[in-house]
Amino acid sequence: MLPAFNYVKAKSVADAVRQLAAPGARVHAGGTDLLGCLRDGVFKADTVISLSALKALRGITPAAAGGLRIGALTTNAEVAASKDVNEHYRALAQAAAAVASPQLRNQGTIGGNICQRPRCWYFRGDFHCLRKGGDTCFAVQGENRYHCILGGENCYIVHPSDTAPALVALGARVRIVGPAGTRVVPIGSFFVGPAVQITKENVLAQGEVVTEILLPPAEAALRSSYRKVRARGAWDFALAGVAVALLMKDRTVARARIVLSGVAPVPWRAEAAEKAVAGHALSPEVVASAAEAAVQGAEPLEQNGYKVPMVKGVITESLIALA
Ligand SMILES: Cc1cc2nc3c(=O)[nH]c(=O)nc-3n(C[C@H](O)[C@H](O)[C@H](O)COP(=O)(O)OP(=O)(O)OC[C@H]3O[C@@H](n4cnc5c(N)ncnc54)[C@H](O)[C@@H]3O)c2cc1C
Repeated sequence: MLPAFNYVKAKSVADAVRQLAAPGARVHAGGTDLLGCLRDGVFKADTVISLSALKALRGITPAAAGGLRIGALTTNAEVAASKDVNEHYRALAQAAAAVASPQLRNQGTIGGNICQRPRCWYFRGDFHCLRKGGDTCFAVQGENRYHCILGGENCYIVHPSDTAPALVALGARVRIVGPAGTRVVPIGSFFVGPAVQITKENVLAQGEVVTEILLPPAEAALRSSYRKVRARGAWDFALAGVAVALLMKDRTVARARIVLSGVAPVPWRAEAAEKAVAGHALSPEVVASAAEAAVQGAEPLEQNGYKVPMVKGVITESLIALA
């Protein structure tokens, strides 16, 4: 059952920030993740601050410096349907379309998508794990088939977001407003892994709100895609996935960003794979070496070794399709 909490509709971003200063206050966007966490006792909230009245945080518009500005309250369905996003930032349109189900895409927002909490069943369940302030990661000795193979350290969650890897591949930035003012951070620095911080997945401090996501100016020679493998065809999180953004010069890859989902506690830049394709045409040999490079350093747990060939497969398919 959902426990009782105060529910407040913020009148402005400044009002939301002010109200969030109270201990135990939480941001509510679409609520598709937050309310499940509160119901299941993953964490508590004394007050839930809804952003739903803040029209300024909705919609996709040209950004002042070129590119696109996506308000944090824009739904995943709106991102997936946007003509601009589909034409110039295809990986993001595909990622937003791959989120959950139509109902959840209509309700869930892109801000909530990048800020959602992990789906590890120990974290979500009745276990006082490291991420909840305990001293054990139960996945190490337990049921770990959906956990990470890269970047795990003491805690082995995977980052659950589909849009996040696409945003990293596309070089997006995040605008954050909080008690100390406004800051804009590259989205790659927004996410933090367990080696840095084990109880949170991003750099947001108490009282800070994501207000918008900024995409860089469109590049005509950019090709991008997001591909996700999941256990079921209907709503499900990624077992493994990849966002690829390639800047092409004729048939050669001038710049590559390859970012994995479903296999690491943060959207995972596969830098060795990026190096394997940069400066080359996408021949079968180059694609194969990129797929191999992407899993360098992978350390599967007892039950999730299947993710290694899955990552290789999803990268191979994505690069061949983009070629
Ligand atoms: C059955 C099911 C299947 C799902 N499948 C997928 C999937 O396949 N892929 C996927 O990516 N996601 C999936 N989700 C997760 C999630 O529902 C969506 O990703 C959605 O986008 C979350 O957005 P929301 O607006 O509902 O967030 P909320 O539930 O409102 O918020 C989520 C978290 O982010 C914080 N937050 C929200 N907005 C902001 C903001 N602007 N600034 C600061 N903090 C903020 C909240 O405090 C909360 O902790 C699934 C969820 C469910 C229930």
